[in-house]
Amino acid sequence: MRTIVHLSDLHFGRIDPLLPEPLVESVEAVRPDLVAVSGDLTQRARTEEFEQARAFLDALPSPQIVVPGNHDVPLYNAYLRFFGGLLGRPQLTWSEQTAKRALGHYDSAHNMIVVSRVFDRPSSPRYAIEYLLYHEMLHLRHPVRRRGLRRSVHSREFKAEEALFPQLKEALAFIQRL
Ligand SMILES: [Zn+2]
Repeated sequence: MRTIVHLSDLHFGRIDPLLPEPLVESVEAVRPDLVAVSGDLTQRARTEEFEQARAFLDALPSPQIVVPGNHDVPLYNAYLRFFGGLLGRPQLTWSEQTAKRALGHYDSAHNMIVVSRVFDRPSSPRYAIEYLLYHEMLHLRHPVRRRGLRRSVHSREFKAEEALFPQLKEALAFIQRL
């Protein structure tokens, strides 16, 4: 008979530090043929949380199957979350003025995303700023195309991908109210 140990929802970053060691000992005592670990490995997908999870997994017997969960997606880093580090990493900056007309734009000469300073206040919801960054990052992925005299800034592909933003409705509603 084969023995499989299944651990789930470790949530490093929000654990009792006294627990991992006896847990490793209990798993070792079972002498499993396989250790399956399902997400979430971390609480907030922070680097130090992954490092703790890595150390824990290294202490467990092998072979292992490890599958991440939704908490292992970097919630607080729109760039990593949406684009997985695929794009040339642009700089970020606030605009000089609190312009409401241009809430954000991508300055390709300086590889810089400029976000209007109207958002530079604690009451700005994270999703609204993330939406702007997402929109501008999509401009990096979908450069302006020219068809004859017409320029397609927000192409069909651009809009389809923009529609994937999780809180698009809330973000647009917030921007409407500015
Ligand atoms: Zn745009």
